Amino acid sequence: MYIEKDKPKCHCGVFGIYGNHTAALQTYYGLHALQHRGQEASGIVTRDLNASGKPHFNLIKGNGLVSEVFADHSLLTDTLTGNSAIGHNRYSTTGSSKSKKNIQPFHVNYRMGNLAVAHNGNLTNEKMIREELVEEGAIFQTTSDTEVILHLIARSKLTNQIDQVKEALQKIEGAFSLVILTDNCLIAARDPYGFRPLSLGKFENSYMVASETCAFDIISGQFIREVEPGEMIVIDDEVLATGEVKSFRINGDVYPKKHCIFEYIYFSRPDSFIFGHNVDKMRRRLGKVLAKNHPVYDKDNEKVIVISVPDSSNTTAMGYESQLEKMGIRSKMEIGLIRSHYIGRTFIQPGQANREIGVRIKFNIVKGVLENRTVVIVDDSIVRGTTSKQLINLIKEANPKEIHLRISSPPIMHPCYYGMDFPSKDELIAYRFKGNVKEIEKYLEVDSLEYLTIEEMLEAVKEADPDNFCTACFSGKYPTTVNANFKKEIYEI
Ligand code: SF4
Repeated sequence: MYIEKDKPKCHCGVFGIYGNHTAALQTYYGLHALQHRGQEASGIVTRDLNASGKPHFNLIKGNGLVSEVFADHSLLTDTLTGNSAIGHNRYSTTGSSKSKKNIQPFHVNYRMGNLAVAHNGNLTNEKMIREELVEEGAIFQTTSDTEVILHLIARSKLTNQIDQVKEALQKIEGAFSLVILTDNCLIAARDPYGFRPLSLGKFENSYMVASETCAFDIISGQFIREVEPGEMIVIDDEVLATGEVKSFRINGDVYPKKHCIFEYIYFSRPDSFIFGHNVDKMRRRLGKVLAKNHPVYDKDNEKVIVISVPDSSNTTAMGYESQLEKMGIRSKMEIGLIRSHYIGRTFIQPGQANREIGVRIKFNIVKGVLENRTVVIVDDSIVRGTTSKQLINLIKEANPKEIHLRISSPPIMHPCYYGMDFPSKDELIAYRFKGNVKEIEKYLEVDSLEYLTIEEMLEAVKEADPDNFCTACFSGKYPTTVNANFKKEIYEI
């Protein structure tokens, strides 16, 4: 058993670049910056030309972190040659995480040439499409939903490859931010609701696309704009020459935007710009609204000590503390928990008794700043509640006066069908306690526990239109109809 963070598991990270002789290397750096979006496996495919000018694809993928899969750096310079590439960091949300075959990018060679795809999100009608395709004779190599996209493109009766891709994208439903590499272009596409982020950038004379803008920053690239929900963009040699990116609508209908609000709460890096705003700013605002509506006071009028659960809650805790001060509540932001960044895949003996070691390996307390103080722990979410309980036990060892837990999202009550992996409903602490926060507070044995309400969460992101967000895992209001088989496959088996 390895240390598992009790947080929703993020979908995946994608990166693509067209027109740069160091394409593989830049993709490697880009994937590094996107490592937080998936740590199970990583892969890069490049397009190169052989001596007679014929395109061929090179593919390396494997289990592990980007630095592990590409530990042999000659892979990036000698094997993954070519001036265009796409890459993927995987955390499996569909398909067996064990199977090496499910590691992306996927690559096929069909009548129009090479085709490689990398996908972030979940296709909610994948099962239906897969069954139809199997019925027609298609043979699937993987259990990943992404493979249906390749089959739909390859089986299209249309003759133009861009039309084939567009037609395939019109058939799939759910969440997708995609990068596709062909013999002569890079395609990036985002589902009509825009659940997952996807941005367009420039590096020297080449163009890039990435799940988050932090992947551009790492190579000193330049952010151009976000790929619009329902947009498919094409980068080819003509675009390199003219500087005019080709843009198509996947279909004519206009859908309401439904960005995943969890990207702001937890998933995306604070240094990224997504859904029209800086994540850092939105995360601070979540902290401020949390403080405004759920402040903590010290009964002796001493300073309240605000600590984050590093690293994902750091920015939120800063927002929380600054708002307390603004409200005249004496407070101080402290580093009360030290997180080890070197645990990697540390082994932990299975079994309940040994679970605590997982938290202890990962975190330690700074007793001096917590002892005899009123402590507010700011965290972004509670999933199972096991890690929170262990962390609180750890903090109690410092003998604080009181412990208050503040969560910058509402209780998670429902599954996500759009690419985020929550445990089964019965494992969600909020679901187990039927949303009764007082009961959760009792279970966690803290002096108080308070969450943001859905309205408060939307108030925090109000600079972006609150209607533009998906909140289904909190509210149960799903922006799309979800195939019953898909629900069953993901959450009941
Ligand atoms: S259900 Fe929750 S995690 Fe999933 S897309 Fe909607 S807001 Fe994001």
